[in-house]
Amino acid sequence: MTLEEISRWSKIKGIGLIATGDWTHPLWFRSIKENLKETSPGIYTLKNKPGETQFLLSTEISSIYSQGGQVRRIHNLIFSPSISTCEKIIKELNNRGCNLMADGRPIVGISSVDLLKMVLDIDEKVLFIPAHAWTPWFSIFGSKSGFDSIEECFDGYAKYIYAIETGLSSDPIMNWQIKELKNRSIVSFSDAHSGPKLGREATVFVNNKETITNSQITFDDIASAIKQDLNSRLKIGYTIEFFPEEGKYHWSGHRVCNIRYNAREIKEKGSICPVCHKPLTVGVENRVLDLSEKLLGQEDLLMVKNKVGLTFVYDKEKTRRPFVSMIPLLEILLELNDHSVVKAQREYERLTKDLGTELDILLRKDYEEIEKVGGEKLRQAIEIVRERKVFVDPGYDGVFGKVKIFKDENEKINEKKQTQQTLF
Ligand SMILES: [Zn+2]
Ligand SMILES: [Zn+2]
Repeated sequence: MTLEEISRWSKIKGIGLIATGDWTHPLWFRSIKENLKETSPGIYTLKNKPGETQFLLSTEISSIYSQGGQVRRIHNLIFSPSISTCEKIIKELNNRGCNLMADGRPIVGISSVDLLKMVLDIDEKVLFIPAHAWTPWFSIFGSKSGFDSIEECFDGYAKYIYAIETGLSSDPIMNWQIKELKNRSIVSFSDAHSGPKLGREATVFVNNKETITNSQITFDDIASAIKQDLNSRLKIGYTIEFFPEEGKYHWSGHRVCNIRYNAREIKEKGSICPVCHKPLTVGVENRVLDLSEKLLGQEDLLMVKNKVGLTFVYDKEKTRRPFVSMIPLLEILLELNDHSVVKAQREYERLTKDLGTELDILLRKDYEEIEKVGGEKLRQAIEIVRERKVFVDPGYDGVFGKVKIFKDENEKINEKKQTQQTLF
């Protein structure tokens, strides 16, 4: 994952703006300074490929500390408006004895609230977003070592938390149920550790007050869109999401004991493992239910299909930004090619060369064009995904869920019913 490689994959995927990640790491930061140049305030591109992928300076920090008599493990994202701000934050972390060399995502003993205070003291423009907010381990709302509210975690500084990142195991509907997220943005990022995984979740920004081009975007535009500043030049258009059941922590259970419970089963059977008698890893679905103010049903949602058949999910009052759910193209191709990795990868390369970027193929190309270049089966598959009619076997305790697009004709009727139940 060099910057060149991230940029190359971003082009294949159709990602315009991407986070560098890991700027707290000394070697990676050196590479950022050597290979990137600032093209507009807070936005960077490769020196040798200006006009290609734009980068934002972001990093993730793992805070492990004790608060209220409990051990807390929280991951937070820090978006910096400039190289000089990064340098000041790095210096302060070093002063506080943090070992930044140990990992791209360093572990620090500084609490989330102290970390937020620290970075805002250095530069009030810094954007601070709790990462993958619902995963049981390492997140603000996590069942294992998180908090029950942003307020509890950040106290008087909660007002500087303008957004949370949903992670792969939750989607916006689940987050719309939480009272204190009402006026906060819901953002999605890929949390990728390799090129092919980039863009598996993403946030789409669109023009708000003025029409600006990609090369004119600044750090402030992104920050003020996330802060929902009414005068901002950009706003969040929508987010691109996994089907949350596909995430590793949607349901509850124990991987090694082969126990997997949905939220209802947890209510009925409790959260102690019947095999090893230790507490189960309580999944995101259950955790959201526990903290929800109100449960949203199908009747509280609005499904709006656009001209290429892509379904946008809104809340009924349309007070929130909508989202679309997707399955990565390679996963779709694996199912279409009897799970042959070689065949699926070859087809992925061909399609992203001849038809368009991955995000174009999944979200924007019309069905006729997809069928012409990719065949009838691919067209059907993308239609099923865009219409949200997939079947997902939920993930739990670190095991990814399994998505299925096509099933036997017999199962089709059941599948539709079941999909509705598990999705909403
Ligand atoms: Zn993390
Ligand atoms: Zn167990």
